[in-house]
Amino acid sequence: MNKTQVQFILKNLEFTPKKSLGQNFLINTAVLDHILNFSDLSKKDIVLEIGAGLGALTEKLLEKCQKVYAYEIDNVLYKNLLKNLSIFNNLRLFNKDILDGKPPLCNKVISNIPYTITGQIFQKVFFHPNPPEGVLLIEKVIAERIFSTNEYKKFSRITITVNSFLDPITMIDISPESFYPCPKIKLSLIKLKPKKKNHDFLKKEHTIKFYLKFIAGIMPYKNKNIGNAIELFLKSIKKTQITKTEIIDTLKKNNFKNDKITKFEIHNFPELSQIIYNLIKYA
Ligand code: SAH
Repeated sequence: MNKTQVQFILKNLEFTPKKSLGQNFLINTAVLDHILNFSDLSKKDIVLEIGAGLGALTEKLLEKCQKVYAYEIDNVLYKNLLKNLSIFNNLRLFNKDILDGKPPLCNKVISNIPYTITGQIFQKVFFHPNPPEGVLLIEKVIAERIFSTNEYKKFSRITITVNSFLDPITMIDISPESFYPCPKIKLSLIKLKPKKKNHDFLKKEHTIKFYLKFIAGIMPYKNKNIGNAIELFLKSIKKTQITKTEIIDTLKKNNFKNDKITKFEIHNFPELSQIIYNLIKYA
């Protein structure tokens, strides 16, 4: 679909794209080709698409894989997709918020996602014991954080969480002009693969839940020493009976110095989180 075709469809549907739902439709077939190249699809693939929109990508996915689960929250767009893609018997369409409930199992998530809820989408579909592969169009600043594992200035919560479950493979810039309406942010296409080996603490849903809470709790203090950050995190979850000395001693016993958070490597965080989890449990 090019810009004229998208504008024509929107006019026929009497539809004005909503900014609040991140409705920016793909109008550049070269970008579609990039997505498909990154996705390396086969008839074995079960794909989840988040925010199918006008279905430009959905249709290509349907031609190449075994099954596509596509979510579209907007009722008008959903009905349009249902009508236009009815010839495909390997599509299951959901007129639902992706953040609502548990999405079906898949081995790849391929989407031009609604940019405003990128973090929540990651949590919903990727932060699990066996995450799928991801080919995603996301905001460039977030992509840079995910890929900048060695640049500590850009090191943030999403750097740690994403890299604990997935390995970033490739990232390319995509011009905002490839979408209608043209978004005001810069975009990147990224590919992520599940890690071959997860830390033991990230193999169960309930410890993953603690891990995500731990990272969210310490990262606002990323320029502090880890002992201080953990103390503040424990305060926020009302575990004030554990003292800072106790925290630092426990870290020492496990061969961790009370360094600045940015001095730690990504693979340290699941272990740190496990240590604190056990400290709380036996406190
Ligand atoms: N993939 C399409 C559309 C991208 S725009 C394309 O590339 O052209 C993002 C789409 O996500 C919009 O159609 C919007 O309605 C939908 N969307 C926004 N929030 C959503 C949510 N929480 N759950 C499911 N779909 C959502």
